[in-house]
Amino acid sequence: MKHYTRMISLVKGHRHRLALAFGAMVMNSLFSGLPLIGIIIPFVDSILAGKPIIIPQQEHLPGFVIDFIYRINSLSRWELLNLLILWTIGLSFLRLFFEYWQSYLMNDVSQRVIRDLRNQVYDKILSLPLSFFGRSQAGALVSRITYDTGVIRDAISEGLTDFLFQPVQIVVNLTALLVIKAVFGIPWSLVLVIFGLLPLVIFPVLRVGRRLKKISRSSQEQVAEINSTLFESISGIRIVQGFGMEKYETGRFGRQNEGLYKTIMLSISRMILVSPLTEFIGFICLGVVLWIGGKGVIENQMSPGAFIAFLVALFSLLRPFKRLSRVHGINQHALAAAERIFEILDAPNEIRERENARHLPPLKNEIEFKNVSFAYGPDKPVLRNISLKVKAGEIIAIVGPSGGGKTTLLNLLPRFYDPIEGSIMVDGADLKNVALKSLRDQIGIVTQETVLFNDTVNANIAYGRTHTPQKDIERAAKVANADHFISRLPQKYQTVVGDRGFRLSGGERQRLSIARAVLKNPPILILDEATSSLDTESEQLVQEAIGNLMRGRTVFVIAHRLSTIRDATKILVLENGHISEAGTHEELMGRDGTYRRLYELQFRLPGA
Ligand code: ADP
Ligand code: MG
Repeated sequence: MKHYTRMISLVKGHRHRLALAFGAMVMNSLFSGLPLIGIIIPFVDSILAGKPIIIPQQEHLPGFVIDFIYRINSLSRWELLNLLILWTIGLSFLRLFFEYWQSYLMNDVSQRVIRDLRNQVYDKILSLPLSFFGRSQAGALVSRITYDTGVIRDAISEGLTDFLFQPVQIVVNLTALLVIKAVFGIPWSLVLVIFGLLPLVIFPVLRVGRRLKKISRSSQEQVAEINSTLFESISGIRIVQGFGMEKYETGRFGRQNEGLYKTIMLSISRMILVSPLTEFIGFICLGVVLWIGGKGVIENQMSPGAFIAFLVALFSLLRPFKRLSRVHGINQHALAAAERIFEILDAPNEIRERENARHLPPLKNEIEFKNVSFAYGPDKPVLRNISLKVKAGEIIAIVGPSGGGKTTLLNLLPRFYDPIEGSIMVDGADLKNVALKSLRDQIGIVTQETVLFNDTVNANIAYGRTHTPQKDIERAAKVANADHFISRLPQKYQTVVGDRGFRLSGGERQRLSIARAVLKNPPILILDEATSSLDTESEQLVQEAIGNLMRGRTVFVIAHRLSTIRDATKILVLENGHISEAGTHEELMGRDGTYRRLYELQFRLPGA
């Protein structure tokens, strides 16, 4: 129920448009109700049967109705025929005109709601902390933005339309039914039988709807799973093909696809069962109605025209009920989708700025880690009680076995995660109290995995800083040893690099991300194994570029090639989540510890 009201609140901002649409619905209904159904009576009684229209009990009727029918009776058959045809065409035109606007406005509302919702979800996703992405798959998130919002859109454009329109139709057609009954003396027995039977049509519908919601949730989860498989295998296509895993991936995909097919068919078979069920009951009702009506015509209680018009009004009542019965199913579908979207919108953001977070001025003196502990999940400590002081301008190298927590430690500095104990201060200001942007603006990050967007070289270097003069971009590229290869690209700085830099080599990609960091010009730099995936030749170019980048900054460098960090002011050895050794290269070599062991291991090359 909570989700339901929240889903409805999505359309609140568009209530003016909705009101207009509702107006169009009312007009559409009015022109298709009594005026159109009523035509049947003169057509059958006067034109086909050639008799005047008879009103059994005139004393109960207002004068204008009787006048109107006398006037029709005074026309010749030809005159009446032409008039009826013109009348039908005119009414249909008006009806369709309003139907167009009804449909246009409702679709417009639904598309607007979904456009806003998509933006909202995307905004939220981008603001969520890394811990959230550790828990969810990219493909599943994509699916929520595309598939789930689509379900909600349909619920508005179809479900909400029916929900508003069909009751109007019911009121209008019911009025037509009652007017025809009153004017042409349809016996009460007929009316009562019909209303006694109507609940039978509505009842089975409600039961099916309830089961539908569960199936729908499961089908949407399966779509998310498929998306995430697609996403993984397409973005990792080189690995899939390189390992000859096409068959394996096809099999995995096929199973998920088959599961989705089954779930959807189950849902469809339930959905379409509702309609034959109601229809069958409807036909039973029809039999009863035809018998009573036929008897009335045979016994001259009413004219054939009046009976047929009454039947038509009755049938036009059935359709709205049938459509209304569908609304429930559509809503259940949408509710499941909405729940999944609200889950994202409500995901807690533990990395939030304080209300009055203050701006962090550029680093002047010192960064301090004070008794910092961290864990990704309960009882799995990754960092334990780490304390560390770094003076501005120092180069701090962090080494240690893989999985020791090096990346995790440096992820705390830009507040990708918060320590669970202890604090981190920049010039005495606790990171938890400063504005995130002012903190992150000061930090440049170059990692082993480069992140490039499918855009031009220019845009990739100047990421986050549009309107950068071209000469600044080129200067940054020069510092990063990148301008040489860029000038050989087909469109130079305007070359599009392909998905995640697909068209560039590893070293070239790395130098582009270094150029990006150069342009950002941050006082603090984090280098996380920036060169470890490169071959020796490009490593040299990248190493040089990194050397240029490091100049004049406070640097944290994680490198698995120990030769690259000899110049560090201080080297920390991080093992099992704590600092086991600290000192300069010489000091650590003098001790018989992990650093010396790692160093010797690396340089005990074959033949050396
Ligand atoms: P290093 O960079 O020293 O190789 P990491 O800091 O990446 O080590 O990882 C330290 C430990 O934390 C490892 O045991 C790793 O499995 C775990 N870990 C890293 N990232 C996550 C994550 N997002 N969720 C859960 N555990 C993680
Ligand atoms: Mg790492």
